[in-house]
Amino acid sequence: MSGQSEVITTAHGAGGDRMRALIQELILPRFDGARAGSGADAEGGPHSPGLSALDDGAVLPMGNGEAVVLTTDSHVVTPTEFPGGDIGRLAVSGTVNDLAVMGATEGLSLTCSLIVEEGVSLDRVESILDSMAETCEAADCRIVTGDTKVMGSGELDAIAINTAGVGRVPADGFVTDRGMRPGDRIVVSGTLGDHGIALLAAREDFDFGEELMSDVAPVNDLVAAAMDAGTVTAMKDPTRGGFASAINEMAAKADLGVTVEEAALPVTPSVASAGEILGIDPIQVANEGKVVMAVDSDDAEAVLDAMQARPGGEDAAIVGEVTEDHPGRVVLETGFGRRYLSVLEGDPLPRIC
Ligand code: MG
Repeated sequence: MSGQSEVITTAHGAGGDRMRALIQELILPRFDGARAGSGADAEGGPHSPGLSALDDGAVLPMGNGEAVVLTTDSHVVTPTEFPGGDIGRLAVSGTVNDLAVMGATEGLSLTCSLIVEEGVSLDRVESILDSMAETCEAADCRIVTGDTKVMGSGELDAIAINTAGVGRVPADGFVTDRGMRPGDRIVVSGTLGDHGIALLAAREDFDFGEELMSDVAPVNDLVAAAMDAGTVTAMKDPTRGGFASAINEMAAKADLGVTVEEAALPVTPSVASAGEILGIDPIQVANEGKVVMAVDSDDAEAVLDAMQARPGGEDAAIVGEVTEDHPGRVVLETGFGRRYLSVLEGDPLPRIC
């Protein structure tokens, strides 16, 4: 109704068109003009992503041949403990992975801002902090500063955690989500849809016979192995909206087409059958321990081998190719024909991460 103020809905947080409108219409006009992201950087190096790039993080040139990658992420997942992980593991992995897909894989430092609802047990908080510490150890990163706040009973749903992260890269050594080139191969680091399907199954209390587990994990070691093995031209972690959303965004930003072989997409049989029962396509829901990359075609096999040799990369696969045809669109080769791979109006699951 005109004259009545629109209100925020869960769709504004789901990664789809509503969220994009919120960012494009309310946020960017006020804050764009950041030092990074508005053109070639001061060192004349490659374009450094800033706010308007809407990449996984910002790249801030330091003027000494190095740059700092900076990112932040708030985690509000429900339930806070789920098969395969919890909000603590998610809060560390999510930020480490956003840094990693910008090319910052080592010497990472994080902040931890913990907001807890009155009445939550100390045991529960302690278990989440233990999980954060374990995940930091796995990612070889440190939490170096933080904040704690408590809200009244009913003012917050248990626990929210914000983490920000920084990592250093050579000034010309970062990777964006828009750098793919015609002929590059598309590589995914493992099975798709595990986090989203596991969360939904846990919430619905469905019995699928075998346990579905979230893939939540840091990917910085896998990304480092891939970058050592060959030229990675673009990267993204396929979180909200899953692989479908990530690859469409990468194609749109590069203004190039991508062709994906449906049969090559790794999905575990249990995730595939649960997805069928739940009516959700695993390639359209969140992953929290995966990476999608575009790789120079000459290096694709070497990158694949390097990833498959690391823990968590065993199911890595080459799933497609970048093309000059159908710019900005992703075509799925299904074996029965071709169709555009669509992006949902946001992730179908609220509070997934
Ligand atoms: Mg990301």
